[in-house]
Amino acid sequence: MGDAALGAAHETFQEFRNHPPRERGDILRRAYDLITERADDLALLMTIEMGKPVAESKAEITYASNFFRWYAEEAVRIDGRYTVNETGVGRVLTMKQPVGPCVFITPWNFPLAMGTRKIGPAIAAGCTMVVKPASQTPLSMYALAQILVECGVPDGVLNVVTTSSTADVMEPLIRDPRLRKLTFTGSTPVGRALVEQSAQGLLRVSMELGGNAPFLVFDDADLDRAVDGAMLAKMRNIGEACTAANRFIVHESVADEFSRRLAERMGGLKLGRGTDDGVNVGPLIDGRQRDKVAELVADAVDHGGRVLTGGNRGDGDGYFFEPTVLADVPTSARMFREEIFGPVAPVTTFSTDDQALALANDTEYGLVAYAFTRDLARAVRVAEGLETGMVGINQGVVSNPAAPFGGVKASGFGREGGAEGIEEYLETKYVGLAL
Ligand code: NAP
Repeated sequence: MGDAALGAAHETFQEFRNHPPRERGDILRRAYDLITERADDLALLMTIEMGKPVAESKAEITYASNFFRWYAEEAVRIDGRYTVNETGVGRVLTMKQPVGPCVFITPWNFPLAMGTRKIGPAIAAGCTMVVKPASQTPLSMYALAQILVECGVPDGVLNVVTTSSTADVMEPLIRDPRLRKLTFTGSTPVGRALVEQSAQGLLRVSMELGGNAPFLVFDDADLDRAVDGAMLAKMRNIGEACTAANRFIVHESVADEFSRRLAERMGGLKLGRGTDDGVNVGPLIDGRQRDKVAELVADAVDHGGRVLTGGNRGDGDGYFFEPTVLADVPTSARMFREEIFGPVAPVTTFSTDDQALALANDTEYGLVAYAFTRDLARAVRVAEGLETGMVGINQGVVSNPAAPFGGVKASGFGREGGAEGIEEYLETKYVGLAL
């Protein structure tokens, strides 16, 4: 099946690369409209697939569809440049051309948005593709593919492959000489293995990998705003987000007050089935993930962390874990090095700005960081000093179709969204003109 899918992407590429840009954009724009029209059905499907509350699924659908609207507008703005040679004699002409057939591998935590962030710019650029969604959430991707077909995407341009023999099906595709680009969103260990496989074909590669986001609260921060930001940065997607705040690093003079307020808000959240009214926090994706969260909490408590709220598996038939705040967690605890991927907020303290930055950067990851301060000079200094691809200043969410999303260090490379996002699907060709 994988071979047939790549064969179709390869065969249709020559035609699709010349498909008029306006028509490529119109496919995306129509798909944006149809996703919006079907948002309720798509949200229900997503909640049934991965557990988050329906309101959060709807928010993801809005976020996901906005990549199509954004790249509908970019399809007609792909250009090059024209320069007179330094000598004044010849000319330099550059043109942007689609990279070629692509493979996209996406995770279960944002089943739609991690697809549209790749499919949108790829269609806009004139690339064809094979998309492999996570085994746990294939249905949202099928629903999206159906929408794109209804909106006029030509046969063979978008090919969805589902499998539970993932490595066996995907490795031959990644090593296939017909492929030109690999884009992966998922865990860092799998990303490393895929980069090795992609070396064979010297593919263009984008890697959106794991995170370990620091959330810094300085002594001059607006604490109401910091707690609101913390709730978003921690609890969006039940904590199962690469951008989730993983380590709360709070100035010692405000740590008690911040932790108390955060625990009050977290303790007030309603845990339950994502389809039930009034539920704020759904179940985790599976038993393995819930066991990992429980282990990390037990380890933090063994290291001296104090439970302010939560700390246990939730009641009921589902992989629930209580929203949890832990104070006084030493940085030797495992959760300061590993992605928690659950609703747990560990708090540690700092006394100087230099110490805060050193703690924030003390991780192999570098996806996103959040900082709360009212001092503009400090905000700029901290933003410049953080070893991450993205920084949220006084805000707990950075995801935005108009902005370049991506990481550094073990969080990967490449950017999705904004003007940078379409560049990942374009090659620059230079033509020297002798006059
Ligand atoms: P994962 O285990 O790495 O899986 C992600 C995708 O890779 C799935 O489609 C999976 O397929 C596939 N896969 C697994 N092993 C593979 C192999 N050997 N060859 C080819 N494909 C393979 O990650 P996850 O647990 O689903 O997702 C959570 C991770 O994604 C976290 O680390 C999170 O931080 C990261 N993430 C990063 C971003 C970002 O933009 N930086 C965004 C969201 C999530 P199967 O499902 O069939 O195993």
